[in-house]
Amino acid sequence: MTPPFASTDSSVERRPGGVQGRDDVGSYWAMGTEEAPEPAQEKRLDPLLQLQELDLSIDRLNARLGTLESQNELRAGRTAQAEVEARLGEIQLSVNEVGAEQRRLEGDVDSMQRKIDAEQARLYDGSVANIKELQSIEAEVASLKGRKSRTEDRMLELMERREELEEQLRPLEGEAKLARERVAEIEEGAAKELVDIERALGERAAERAALVPQFDPELLRLYEEIRVQKRGIGAAALVDGVCQGCHQKLSPVYLDRLKRTGDIRRCEYCRRILVLP
Ligand SMILES: [Zn+2]
Repeated sequence: MTPPFASTDSSVERRPGGVQGRDDVGSYWAMGTEEAPEPAQEKRLDPLLQLQELDLSIDRLNARLGTLESQNELRAGRTAQAEVEARLGEIQLSVNEVGAEQRRLEGDVDSMQRKIDAEQARLYDGSVANIKELQSIEAEVASLKGRKSRTEDRMLELMERREELEEQLRPLEGEAKLARERVAEIEEGAAKELVDIERALGERAAERAALVPQFDPELLRLYEEIRVQKRGIGAAALVDGVCQGCHQKLSPVYLDRLKRTGDIRRCEYCRRILVLP
């Protein structure tokens, strides 16, 4: 990676001497260096603004890295999955309970039916002649039939309840499947993104290391200091007399003083380092 305006750039040597002195382009150039921005290359960003962009990009990457490392998304995804699976589990449990109750009642109905059949057989096979005993058997059969009918009603209710539960089960199973897929996706995505971010951070760090030596240490220290205080922005361009850091227009008097100063130029309002056009 070639730092901008490095001495390997042969055009630097061709620059007309004396015309573009250090004071004309900003006071932040490292003392004792002959390098200065190429006036012919206006599209190229001022190195301090380049550094600023690079630092903001590094800040964003680090913030994203922090999010990934704290695994907030993954945690949220796993929570959602656990919730839907818990609801699914509850309903599944209810279905099982209803199923067990259904089987128990089926057994009851079977045994009541067998008893009814046996009692009715005794009524008609002539084994019982006593009229009172016959009446008592009839009463027993009627009572068994009543109990059996009530049990069958209860079985119908259970069947309906089970159908309701199973209807709730289907969409939940779909939701649970989606939640599991989402977690898998996050896990895979986070792993890939982590690699990408680490590579990007490595590249930016190298670019930064190449850029930094050309600045005066005092300017660099001030820039870092302001960055901490001013949400990551230590240097801003001055465009048409307006500071791009705080978007305020500088007064003509201050602007005039800025142009003539040999010191580090700073915004009248936000005190950020200003890069003049
Ligand atoms: Zn400002």
